[in-house]
Amino acid sequence: MCINCYIIHIVETMAARGNGSMYDTETHNKYCRACMDFKSWTKQQRTNFEKETLGKRDDNSSEKQCPLNRDELGNKTWGFLHTMAAYYPDKPTPEERSDMSNFFRTFSKFYPCSECAKDFQEQLKISPPITDSQQMLSQWLCRMHNNVSRRIGKPEFDCSRVNERWRDGWLDGSCD
Ligand SMILES: Cc1cc2nc3c(=O)[nH]c(=O)nc-3n(C[C@H](O)[C@H](O)[C@H](O)COP(=O)(O)OP(=O)(O)OC[C@H]3O[C@@H](n4cnc5c(N)ncnc54)[C@H](O)[C@@H]3O)c2cc1C
Repeated sequence: MCINCYIIHIVETMAARGNGSMYDTETHNKYCRACMDFKSWTKQQRTNFEKETLGKRDDNSSEKQCPLNRDELGNKTWGFLHTMAAYYPDKPTPEERSDMSNFFRTFSKFYPCSECAKDFQEQLKISPPITDSQQMLSQWLCRMHNNVSRRIGKPEFDCSRVNERWRDGWLDGSCD
């Protein structure tokens, strides 16, 4: 044990005896700045602060701004796609309809999870985008998403609530 740690250990032991509690090695290590190099100590302090004060989990990779894994990518992509469908025109022009169909075709070629992209391309052949209106596009996309969810064992979504989820907020007012 380093000399600073030893002194801290003695002081903490005495303090602990004074209030009748046991010496807590975990607490000691947590706040012992002298037990590790400065960089590691400041990192630990930040993690402790985030865990204790902000309630953050230290295994949350999105907080660390790491590259997206398949699930994170999927979650964020669906958010974008459903929001895009939610704001699609009620009465699209022929050009808008064609652009939207082309968007999904191109999207499926470049989606950066190759297994997902391949499956989505197959799904698009069976069920091409329905671009007649916002309602029809959103319902089509909801079914496409449910197809994926069913295949990977995730719960399906009630498509009658898709505009509440992605445009208007829940009817109970919880998003207001
Ligand atoms: C095009 C595409 C293809 C994919 N293919 C695969 C694959 O082959 N294998 C794989 O493992 N993963 C795949 N994924 C990822 C997968 O769909 C999920 O995104 C991932 O598993 C994370 O799931 P999640 O629990 O965060 O919820 P997600 O399924 O990502 O859903 C996000 C949110 O959307 C809402 N939601 C759920 N279902 C619907 C719906 N039907 N309509 C409207 N809103 C809905 C819910 O509020 C939910 O919380 C794919 C993703 C995309 C975008």
